Amino acid sequence: MNPVPGFSITTPYGMRGPHWSCRRDSSRQGVHTGADFAAPIGTTVVAARPGTVKHVNHGAAFGNHQIEVVSEDGTSDFYAHMSKRVAHNTKVVATQKVGEVGDEGNATGPHLHFERFQRPGFWGCFNNTDPQPSIDWSPRLLHHVRMAHASLQFSLSRKEKEEDIERIFERCARRGAAWITGTEAGRGAGGSAKLLLDIGHTFGYTLWVPSLEPHIDTDAWIAVSNSMLASDLFKTDYLPVIPSSRELYKRQGVNPRGKSRWSEKGLVTVEFDTVFGRVGVAAAHYLHRARNPQRELDGINHFELNRRMGRAVAAWGREAGEGTDLAFYGGDQNMNDGKNGQPQGDTFFGAPFTSCWDELQKWPDTGHGTIDVIATYNRDNRVKITAADALNDKKFRLHQDHYLVEASAAIVGLPGQAAPRVQGVAASN
Ligand SMILES: [Zn+2]
Repeated sequence: MNPVPGFSITTPYGMRGPHWSCRRDSSRQGVHTGADFAAPIGTTVVAARPGTVKHVNHGAAFGNHQIEVVSEDGTSDFYAHMSKRVAHNTKVVATQKVGEVGDEGNATGPHLHFERFQRPGFWGCFNNTDPQPSIDWSPRLLHHVRMAHASLQFSLSRKEKEEDIERIFERCARRGAAWITGTEAGRGAGGSAKLLLDIGHTFGYTLWVPSLEPHIDTDAWIAVSNSMLASDLFKTDYLPVIPSSRELYKRQGVNPRGKSRWSEKGLVTVEFDTVFGRVGVAAAHYLHRARNPQRELDGINHFELNRRMGRAVAAWGREAGEGTDLAFYGGDQNMNDGKNGQPQGDTFFGAPFTSCWDELQKWPDTGHGTIDVIATYNRDNRVKITAADALNDKKFRLHQDHYLVEASAAIVGLPGQAAPRVQGVAASN
């Protein structure tokens, strides 16, 4: 909502000028880190979004009545140069009064300087983002979405596979998971692909299982809840990235007998429309035994092959996340998704994706370290992971070594977004 009802932006976010110090270019022009609303002293300032008012001090230049309104999605809005503010810790709904316009601090005239922070509590040139989504926010625009990633092992009887897949879909459907990414549905998994498709349909999901196509043998798959689909669009794609072991040993002239084996690994993707905009989801299964960058196995460097996957994820993310589209990823990285900056910490190899673990600063065990992730595209400022959990065998009793990662996200919709179609209408496939 407009934080100064009846007034509009007089100096926009991102404008360049010599008196601003953030993100300076070669000619010493910095950017304006907020949006200014010029209005007379005493004009009512309201909460653009609901949240909790915090009295803050991000420097004398912003005056003596600064506040942040910390939103439920973990971002915050910053209000500066005001002459009055409501009490610390006041919970406000959108459009509720939070203060009055002033000219305190470094201001050339009375105005509200309005910023949006990715993380509450501090001011920094790379913590603020375009506040337009906060200004555009309206009560119908905040969406909560659950996602899941299932890393499975299906080297079991058909009956046990079937029971496991049913339990996964039953849980995901009951919890309203919008989409599920997963692995271990290649040809070698003995019928898992067809079971996923059939059981997934029963629980109201549309699936892309590439190994059911005659010329593809890769094990990643994606299921999207029919209730998410706001149009007929369900675009599927597959990009081969790491050749199969058979192919690589052939190229190396290595006898494959007794060596570790894998089917082709690539990027499995879908694209569809939701009530909060167009969404792309990608899934992948990285190569195993790749934790040591220097180690070669039978003349093959698994770490370097996984770097190729990181590059593929990056290229896809940039394309799928163009404009207002949102991009998500779920995968079995087979490498430790540790803290950024630590050895092997970034399983995206610099690709602009952040795992739910890095975002929430916790790294639970998902088998052999934190190897299963759900991730969001770094430029999707409208998306914030609010919770994530890894369910191990103890919590989620299945027949084999399975891990289920679940994450929730708050997603800010776009104003003027088309209303959803009648829910439950399945797309093809
Ligand atoms: Zn300003």
